[in-house]
Amino acid sequence: MEQLITVHYGELTLKGMNRGEFERIILDNIKKALENEKYARIEKNQLRLLIHLDNDSNKDEIIRKLKNVFGIQWFSYAISCKPDLSEIKKIVLDNTQIGKTIKVNTTRADKSFSINSMEVNKQVGQVLYDKGFKVDIKSPEIVINIEILKNMANIFFDKIAGLGGLPVGSSGRVLCLLSGGIDSPVAAWLMMKRGCVVDYLHVHPFANNDEVKKSKIVELIEKLNQFSQRKSRLFIFPYHELYKKTFETGNKNELIIFRRFILKLANELVQKEKHLGIATGDNLAQVASQTLENMLATSGASTLPLYRPVLTYDKNEIIEVAKKIGTYELSIKQYRDCCSLVATKHPATKVKIEDVNFIEDKIEINKIVEKTIEKKEIVII
Ligand code: ATP
Ligand code: MG
Repeated sequence: MEQLITVHYGELTLKGMNRGEFERIILDNIKKALENEKYARIEKNQLRLLIHLDNDSNKDEIIRKLKNVFGIQWFSYAISCKPDLSEIKKIVLDNTQIGKTIKVNTTRADKSFSINSMEVNKQVGQVLYDKGFKVDIKSPEIVINIEILKNMANIFFDKIAGLGGLPVGSSGRVLCLLSGGIDSPVAAWLMMKRGCVVDYLHVHPFANNDEVKKSKIVELIEKLNQFSQRKSRLFIFPYHELYKKTFETGNKNELIIFRRFILKLANELVQKEKHLGIATGDNLAQVASQTLENMLATSGASTLPLYRPVLTYDKNEIIEVAKKIGTYELSIKQYRDCCSLVATKHPATKVKIEDVNFIEDKIEINKIVEKTIEKKEIVII
């Protein structure tokens, strides 16, 4: 008898992707997630991963950490034994809570096992019935799962939902424009969900970059890193050079100029750092800068693809995710972000690209971008 955690990563998601590669990445991410945990070993076994626990293992902590790994469909704490019916019956009897209605649910991943699933259900069910358990096939209080693999049988009760998605690292690397609000951390998380490694770019209004390093921006990234099982890079740029110029021109197009400025910085960076795209927390029509017209005017500043994973969410849907992943509390913390400095209270909702081009030429935006890049700083978090 042995204790383990069985991890299922869902066959369907393997379509179109090299299975071996997928398994290698998810195994690697699980090992990183459990870096500080004690366990005997992890093995791959017939489309699942088995984490063999030992006496020093902190089961609850391992479960908590697995809940942060993308690519896992579900997992469960299991007791395993030889694929032998009498051993299985004994474990089931010893571990099933009396007084509740039960159902036995067997899957046979190893078809060479001589008894089929129905028959195992029947025989184990019979033993329980004889001991006074009530069977309820339709809506049981307890489902006893028996999984028969080569050389072993696993018995488990609760299936714990995983995060789903794809393991981080199975898609490419993207750069997320992180503002410190509610939306952009959720956008970063959703890109991770589809297997992206995410780095961050933040533009700040402080006199020097050090302020950012002490701010909630770092805390947000630390929180997000829990879901990627790896460190990420934060690229910090000051707003100062642009602010100096637009401060003079102050007008209703300023917000779009600011957005385009961030994208120009991102594009310069991404060419060098080889990110495959840029992710933002834009949400259609949430604020003046995010009308379709304004997004059209903004997008023109980027030659790289822009990904906007929360574009169609309602605000409360974004907040729901933010609360679930633990970024919400940080996002609502007081922070002096650049938008509070953008002069006009009534930004245009339908910016004309000719106007934008005119202002950008006038303030010599390319020089501003150049000067800002000189002040770039990279922090590994
Ligand atoms: P969030 O979108 O994070 O909730 P927000 O709503 O204040 O913050 P918006 O003003 O809606 O941000 O900006 C839209 C998007 O532009 C943000 O989601 C983010 O991707 C990007 N962005 C805005 N400000 C910054 C900034 N200072 N640094 C980097 N990216 C930014
Ligand atoms: Mg927003």
